Amino acid sequence: MLIGENKTGKKTVGMIICLVLCLVCSVFSKYVESHPELQFGYGSMILPSTSFLGVIQAVKSLLCILMICFDYKRGRVITFVYLTASMVSMIVGLIRLGNFTSLPGLYNTVITAISVLIISRQLEKSDKRAVTDYLTGLRNRRGLSSLLELKIREKKPFHVVYFEINNFRTINDNLGHKYGDVALKSVANHLMELEDENSVFVSRVGGTEFAAVVFGNIEPKNFAEGVMEKIGNSITNADEGFEISIALSIYAGISSFPGNADNVDDLLKYADIAVYNARHGKNRKVEFFDETMRDRFTRQIELEKIVKESLNKDYFYLVYQPQYEMQEKRLRGFETLIRLKQPDGEIISPGEFIPVVEKSDLIMKIDSYVMKRAMREAKKMIEAYGNDIVISINVSAKNISSPGFVPEVKQALEMTKFPPECLEIEITEYSFAEEKEVTIQNVNELRTMGIQIALDDFGTGYTSLSQVMHLPISLLKIDKSLIDDIENNQVNRDFVDAIIYMGHLMNCEVISEGVESQEQLELLKQHECDFVQGYVWGKPMEYDNAMELCKKEAS
Ligand code: C2E
Ligand code: CA
Ligand code: CA
Repeated sequence: MLIGENKTGKKTVGMIICLVLCLVCSVFSKYVESHPELQFGYGSMILPSTSFLGVIQAVKSLLCILMICFDYKRGRVITFVYLTASMVSMIVGLIRLGNFTSLPGLYNTVITAISVLIISRQLEKSDKRAVTDYLTGLRNRRGLSSLLELKIREKKPFHVVYFEINNFRTINDNLGHKYGDVALKSVANHLMELEDENSVFVSRVGGTEFAAVVFGNIEPKNFAEGVMEKIGNSITNADEGFEISIALSIYAGISSFPGNADNVDDLLKYADIAVYNARHGKNRKVEFFDETMRDRFTRQIELEKIVKESLNKDYFYLVYQPQYEMQEKRLRGFETLIRLKQPDGEIISPGEFIPVVEKSDLIMKIDSYVMKRAMREAKKMIEAYGNDIVISINVSAKNISSPGFVPEVKQALEMTKFPPECLEIEITEYSFAEEKEVTIQNVNELRTMGIQIALDDFGTGYTSLSQVMHLPISLLKIDKSLIDDIENNQVNRDFVDAIIYMGHLMNCEVISEGVESQEQLELLKQHECDFVQGYVWGKPMEYDNAMELCKKEAS
């Protein structure tokens, strides 16, 4: 059964009961009017028939108002017909039969009609307010739900297209909330222009989320792309006398009725999941919902829960993978890598949970945990080996591009008394994708503090060597995927050679990661790669083993 179907049924029953009672009252009052000798009461309490008619009239008024309260739309029509019929019958009685006993009743009926009109108007207004978004005037989430309920009952196929504006915080933070509101209203106005009572219904379903329900021949992806193009750029507000242009980053997700679900809650949830995938995926800005997305989403929710619990209960620990200087095989230091071991012994790989928590602020907590723990533990390694060692920690794009990151590093360094020149921070090129200025400022500040910066996974993304030249990087980490096939793949070999050559020209050192074989090692040695990290010389190891290695290498 659909949500609200039960409620509608109860309202209808309530209305029918009121109407039947009204009709009974009318018949009864007619009977009393034609028998003025009748008296009503009990014992000494006797009510003359005229007073009794007044009581019945009051009951009828009450029942009419009740009908309006049950359902003002249908109630208004029914009470209008009923009250008009009553008035006509009273007027006829008054004129033709000279029956003046119905005069107060007529007066009462007119008052009831006016009351019914006023109450139904008020109910209509408040109903409209309840389904309308106060800022934009579009349908709100509740309005959208009611609309979808109705359309599902009509059984005509449709699509729900969810739009999410991703960079809204930047607008609010940089330009102020006034501009934020203007931007939202402008988006709403563009959407409103598309509303068409047969095929397109638009709404604002959350702070920066909008939705459209599209029917008929409209292809939802084309529709979404058209909307994104239309609302993606110009934000104007002629009313307030200004015009600004902001590039909005918009994503869309699509769910379909009846293909994906046959109820409102699931259709909205699936469109939301699809938009979430579009936002966090790397390729498409518009995504259709599919079953695998739901399973992935469920796993992501589960992983977030596990990570939160693991942070509270300290199920995390660090392993250390050694890095060596290539020519002499001298220990350079370690990359710290996080591990999650649940109480049942199951180990979840960071490759699985890090991408998930990177989508939320949980990654800040993880990075902060790793930084403090690595500094605490590695301090003892420095004591065993000496100051000539580098401890690398991975820092997510979200963190390195946040203004609070440098103060946090400073605090951790002070707290643990860790020497900054022994610390290296690994970032990826995604750190420069958004909030590039903050990232560059942070990296510069860290370098001034003596901390080294490595660019991880180099060669997999879009950053070219010429772009790297302008970034304050001290180490390039060539990604494992380029190393994997280096013995057989001439193109990769040339590429790796070029990276090493250019890296050196830019005053960067170069490390190859994921080196597994002796052949790979030899090739990299020939290409004068500075450092190496990989199973060929050392897998990630637990703290005690890393300490042992430090002691052994020191002697
Ligand atoms: P990454 O930073 O590129 O780390 C290197 C990954 O390659 C590690 O996997 C490491 O164990 C693996 N690896 C190193 N040498 C070899 C090799 O010779 N052969 C093979 N097959 N693998 C090798 P791991 O530890 O599973 O980490 C996966 C990813 O998870 C990391 O990639 C990094 O992006 C993320 N991660 C791990 N620890 C942390 C952390 O503490 N903080 C953050 N933010 N991310 C982390
Ligand atoms: Ca890394
Ligand atoms: Ca890497």
